[in-house]
Amino acid sequence: MRPILATISQSALQHNLAVVRKFAPHSKVMAALKANGYGHGIERIAHGLSGADGFAVLGMDEAITLREMGFEQPILLLEGVFHADSLAVVNAYRLSLVIHCYAQIEMLEHSPYRHPFNIFLKMNTGMNRLGFVPDDYLKALARVTKLTPNVTLMTHFAAADELNGTDAAMAIFQQTTKNLPYPSSLANSAAILCQPQTHLDWVRPGIMLYGATPAKNTVATEFGLKPVMQLTSEIIAIQTLKAGETLGYGNRYTASKPTRVGVVACGYADGYPRHAGQYSGNNLLQGVPVAVGGKITQTLGRVSMDMLFVDLTALPEANIGSPVELWGSTVSVDTVAEACGTIGYELLCAVTPRVPFKVVD
Ligand SMILES: *Cc1c(COP(=O)(O)O)cnc(C)c1O
Repeated sequence: MRPILATISQSALQHNLAVVRKFAPHSKVMAALKANGYGHGIERIAHGLSGADGFAVLGMDEAITLREMGFEQPILLLEGVFHADSLAVVNAYRLSLVIHCYAQIEMLEHSPYRHPFNIFLKMNTGMNRLGFVPDDYLKALARVTKLTPNVTLMTHFAAADELNGTDAAMAIFQQTTKNLPYPSSLANSAAILCQPQTHLDWVRPGIMLYGATPAKNTVATEFGLKPVMQLTSEIIAIQTLKAGETLGYGNRYTASKPTRVGVVACGYADGYPRHAGQYSGNNLLQGVPVAVGGKITQTLGRVSMDMLFVDLTALPEANIGSPVELWGSTVSVDTVAEACGTIGYELLCAVTPRVPFKVVD
């Protein structure tokens, strides 16, 4: 079997959920499991997060999976339904719904179902993606409360990772919802970690549950989080370059001195970013950190579909079969993301179906 493997730690999930509770001790926790649990596999992570007070997903299939696994908590569809015929499933599986536009209110008003829906009514407080603008919000609320008493007031922040980045949105939200007798839900991971005034009744952590950081210029461990996914593989070949020889597709890397190179069984078809490393022409400025046998080295040359190169010049003990950590506890996914010009969220979500997974305690 090809040696690549993604290992999922249940104890890290439980630990990270406890970190959420430590940061937001007075709030209920709606764990965000969208995008197949941020690429970890919803069935692989749900048990580790069974202590959450609710789950937030995007797809109806994800919601059904959770209900059929036996979870009785509220399960929230983060964009509500796209078509009225989906309300049959919402009704049958007792799903909660975000309502973000009048078309969705009309779907509810025309629905034949008697059981009152559980609604999270979304306000657009400046992100301008989903939600009612403040001027429309109370009108929308009045229509929704004619249909159901089960309403939570909700918004989503555009810049919760910035200093005072939630202040304007929070002020708009609070001014609009002043004295309303409904619970509120505002905070994603960045707001949970950095903006305690936003916690209120329900927090909605995603990335922090998986042990990656939501905030610029921070690492997850400084918040006490533990990585849930470890992506590992092995060295499958060794090459020795003389000074002036080049490596891989496009001769992207030129050795400036004798260089010992390890070939790792992991490529962009596994979800490792192809745009790894910074170059000036074919001269490497900065590779991406990788751990070989527990020691940190860096990628060299262009990532190919099924393989990538690492520098073993300073690791003479490394050989064919040596273990490689692409990301995990030695090299955080945030470090890899930073070196590839993206965020940990994208890398975790992008692990491809051909990568086998293993769940451990
Ligand atoms: C994804 C999502 C979250 C969780 O965001 P993180 O940054 O991963 O914590 C919270 N709320 C909404 C509406 C979301 O779409």
